[in-house]
Amino acid sequence: MGRVVFIGAGPGAADLITVRGLRALEQAEVVLADALTDPALRAHAPHAQWIDVGKRGFAHATGQAHINALLVEHALAGRAVARLKGGDPSLFGRLEEELQVLAQAGIDCEVIPGVTAALAAAAQSQRPLTRRGGGRTVALTTAMTLQHALQAGHHADTEVFYMAGQQLPGLADSLLQCGWPDTTPVSVVSRAGCPDARSSLHTVASLAEATSAHAGRPAVVIVGVGATPAARAQPASLAAIDSHQSSEADRT
Ligand code: SAH
Repeated sequence: MGRVVFIGAGPGAADLITVRGLRALEQAEVVLADALTDPALRAHAPHAQWIDVGKRGFAHATGQAHINALLVEHALAGRAVARLKGGDPSLFGRLEEELQVLAQAGIDCEVIPGVTAALAAAAQSQRPLTRRGGGRTVALTTAMTLQHALQAGHHADTEVFYMAGQQLPGLADSLLQCGWPDTTPVSVVSRAGCPDARSSLHTVASLAEATSAHAGRPAVVIVGVGATPAARAQPASLAAIDSHQSSEADRT
């Protein structure tokens, strides 16, 4: 019987996969790849059968049941299956369902971690998620409920919201309802880790302004202590697009 290796591909740039993940990918005979994984990774398993099972948000291009069935089918056929997921497989990646279905079929699995978007965003914007003294806790939160409704939260000194990048005005309202003051710093980072990454700095009150700069791009929204610029020498340019990379944002 084959086995399934879940591989965290990192946040969209091929060179942010781990060495262990890359080695597992090189061994794969079948690769089931998510939409946010870098197509450049194909070069590392050129002889494998690649199946694109990308889903974006709740508009399932490929239903979860179909993905589950493909995993079981290929593993039972004796093939080495890689399940390539964006970021880290254990965060907002439907890993539980896929592990369950494989366990039920008695198929052996391994999970290889990856760099999640929150960590790539912190690195990209050079804004650490924890700060000595003032930032002791971090929450990674999906802004979307199962009913497709926006729902913020206030669980930590720094809260990183996934899956809210296209609904920033609604997220701002929800943040206020959760008790975040309207002056709280908010950092938005899209395509973190990629050559065309963008980051911008706002407050809860001005968050809606970030909409056009990040439209159509995967983004995380970092709220609280971890959104404040680390370099005090540099003036905090609220609502300004940072130029960490020579990105299109520099021209916006
Ligand atoms: N398992 C993934 C998250 C999947 S949910 C991880 O660990 O990163 C998809 C959400 O992740 C997107 O809606 C967006 O909020 C975030 N995301 C993924 N890639 C990103 C990137 N390169 N930059 C910023 N956010 C990203």
